Amino acid sequence: MHRSSQLPRPRAGGGGELDGAAEGTPLAAERGVFQVHVPARALSPFVDLVGVERVEAVAREAEVVRAAIGPHTVWNVNSTAAGGGVSEILRSLLRYARGLGVEVGWLVVEGPPEFFAITKRLHNALHDNAGDGSRLGPREAALYERVLAQNFADIERLVRPGDAVVCHDPQTAGLVPHLRRLGEHVVWRCHIGHEGPGIEADAGWAFLRKYLEEVPIAVFTRSAYVPSWLSCARAVTIPPNIDPFSVKNQWMSEPSTRAILVTAGLVEGGGDACCSVYVREDGATEEVTHAAEIVREGGPPAWTTPLVVQVSRWDRMKDHVGLLAGFARLLEQGPDFGAELVLAGPAQRGVADDPEGPEVLGEVTRAWRALPEGVRRRVHLAELPMVDVDENAAIVNALQRHAAVVVQKSLREGFGLTVTEAMWKRRPIVASAVGGIQDQLRDGVEGLLVRDPTDPGETADAIRRVLASPPLAARLADAAYERVRERYLSLSALQRWGALAQLLYVGAPPDRRSA
Ligand code: UDP
Repeated sequence: MHRSSQLPRPRAGGGGELDGAAEGTPLAAERGVFQVHVPARALSPFVDLVGVERVEAVAREAEVVRAAIGPHTVWNVNSTAAGGGVSEILRSLLRYARGLGVEVGWLVVEGPPEFFAITKRLHNALHDNAGDGSRLGPREAALYERVLAQNFADIERLVRPGDAVVCHDPQTAGLVPHLRRLGEHVVWRCHIGHEGPGIEADAGWAFLRKYLEEVPIAVFTRSAYVPSWLSCARAVTIPPNIDPFSVKNQWMSEPSTRAILVTAGLVEGGGDACCSVYVREDGATEEVTHAAEIVREGGPPAWTTPLVVQVSRWDRMKDHVGLLAGFARLLEQGPDFGAELVLAGPAQRGVADDPEGPEVLGEVTRAWRALPEGVRRRVHLAELPMVDVDENAAIVNALQRHAAVVVQKSLREGFGLTVTEAMWKRRPIVASAVGGIQDQLRDGVEGLLVRDPTDPGETADAIRRVLASPPLAARLADAAYERVRERYLSLSALQRWGALAQLLYVGAPPDRRSA
């Protein structure tokens, strides 16, 4: 998971509506906290996916949680309303929580680029990665604290005594001591992590520790990510989830999938393409109208060309360059089944506050140019349009659905949402055996894991195994879908957060402490 303010904010009336932090006190979104309104959504559509018993069980548990929370609100604070894994998860969790009658709120902190440079550095550090190698010293701590103190001044006006506040990731960890002083129920949710010690991870934790030492409960994606100085009694494990009814994951007919990809320039146009339609977060039917910006030689692949697809932010830890090397190996050693590679990520034009994105895209483009011509012609580097968050999600949905193989070639990964998204679409997956991905799928059961992500040969072999065997691909894909249905839908997360809310308000131990 990662913060990303590079995706557009949602349109008003779309997945979330933005406004000032409090009526009568509008706050400039660039300088202070703003609120995201997520419309309530009922759980009833889940009945078709998981059965009525499970949905009723969640509704009964929600009654108990509502009684425990009473008139209070559970606030979530993060640093982006759209884009990246954290906002995806929050949107789905909050809309169903509201549908169950639980009072929830979502606040987004803002800050100058220097603040986000520090938090990006911290994000990398908690993955035990040096990132841009910048300092994490007293000067950075002072700036970090100053920005969060400014944000806290807005938050303080909204949060009432007895409310609970869940702060997400390093961007908001510095709010914890302020909130503790107010006496609220405070939780810190960490979406990233690294197993065990590491020089960079230790430096990241050394920076954050003073803000988190007193946090009553910290939530991690895996128990292996809990830092040694945090008492186990205060650490809870909750894996992230996906919303099967979001634009990103909603069912899509094959004609729509094809039309969307044709419009986006990701597959060759056919005369039979119907409308490129999808259903917006607010229920309205919409068409994809924008094309991706694509670096390639020649035209788009044919509809029948098997596509190897990775969808990721332009981040070095997603190892696009390593995947180019693995794909080159597949083609060099053959058979390659005529496959082409699509590396897709958010458009970078006009992005001011993700210093690494355009730089990484530049590196990937240079690595692509250096490939032998025969390989280069079969690779497409796609910047997906960012003008509309729902449209971007619809294109990701179509691309994942159409992929012959979905790859997640990460060198580090707290939990790969793109992996779960592709599993839900019954796609065969090849992913690095790193971080949370190792919990998400079992090698040979729900996908293929690449043990050494730095070995292009191992990646090439795994992709070839899937392309070579439709029965293997189908078996992995079916098992992947079932695993998500059982473990990684919004329902599971609602139950875990419900148990946590009870722990906060009535002190009862949560009945689901781990995945
Ligand atoms: N994503 C997107 N548009 C893009 C690229 C990525 O919506 O152009 C989404 C992707 O579908 C996933 C999220 O961003 O939902 C990335 O989450 P993940 O956990 O895979 O990685 P992170 O970005 O959090 O490191």
